Amino acid sequence: MKLTKIGLITSGGDAPGMNAAIRGVVKYAMSFNINVVGFYDGFDGLIDNRFILFDYSDVNNIVQLGGTIIGTARSERFLDKSQRERAYQNLQNQHIQALIVIGGDGSFRGALQFMLDFEIPVIGIPGTIDNDIQGTNYTIGFDTCLNTVTEAVDKIRDTATSHHRIFFIEVMGRNAGKIALNSALSAGADSVLIPEEHTSIEEVAQKVIDDNRGQRSSIVIVAEGDELGGAQKISEAISKILPNHDIKYSVLGHIQRGGKPTAFDRMIATQMGARAVDALMNGEFGKIVGLIEGKLELADLETSHNTLKLLNLAKLSLLEHMRTRKKD
Ligand code: ATP
Repeated sequence: MKLTKIGLITSGGDAPGMNAAIRGVVKYAMSFNINVVGFYDGFDGLIDNRFILFDYSDVNNIVQLGGTIIGTARSERFLDKSQRERAYQNLQNQHIQALIVIGGDGSFRGALQFMLDFEIPVIGIPGTIDNDIQGTNYTIGFDTCLNTVTEAVDKIRDTATSHHRIFFIEVMGRNAGKIALNSALSAGADSVLIPEEHTSIEEVAQKVIDDNRGQRSSIVIVAEGDELGGAQKISEAISKILPNHDIKYSVLGHIQRGGKPTAFDRMIATQMGARAVDALMNGEFGKIVGLIEGKLELADLETSHNTLKLLNLAKLSLLEHMRTRKKD
């Protein structure tokens, strides 16, 4: 059957570069006379039938914008089969033949369930700052987020150095330490605390003493999901153990999600958008578009959300290695 109309949503946490992916999908699809219907606010818009039938010009001048022009949401209702049925009916009524979901692991879990329920072809485009999707080395938004974190840490370092302070800086990552580990390297932090690696508070205190020796300041990046707690809890505990050190914390929060996407994010997002349309035109679905060793490849939607990607241990040991200084 010839593809003539597809649906599109952005879902879950927003990520810079989602708009570039929307633009990629719409412009590429329209070049084959395929209409794209964008539903507002993720699965919620699909349930409530709130949508825009995209015209070519609707996606002009959005490649550089953070967030998503069609909105996103975490939809409790979509967990309910009767609500998914409503969403399916809405697609049927408009003769929409397939759905593209731009989002993270939760969105892919929902997309898979939807596909299994109603046999509607689905393709996922990984859009999340967390970079925690199985089947791709990269998710849209990660590079922009890392740049934001790096710039923020640079600024905190200026004040940390001037006041000889130890700073615990909290970044996003409820389950994955990708943002923390990579920004620790790019921002030149002394250590990192991530959910994948368990450390005792005493070990953290010892690291702080070691790192701070002879330095004017030190920076520890903390993933929000670290088992010792967030930056506030950890800095309070360390202050009790090391009362003579000037210890502060900072939670970077939602600035990590916003802002102009980097050139890399725009480029990958645009290509992933087009690749998703290509896949549907070729009759491929139940897949996500992944970036594997620099190439766009399709991976299974079914396993994309199953397990967290293994952390790059080489990066972690490099960070650890660089903490030790040769004594002779
Ligand atoms: P991020 O990684 O940025 O947080 P995400 O896509 O993982 O993004 P979630 O909030 O985890 O964000 O998931 C998005 C939405 O996917 C949920 O709000 C829900 O509507 C839908 N969803 C998740 N799991 C299921 C499921 N098992 N069945 C149906 N829908 C689901």
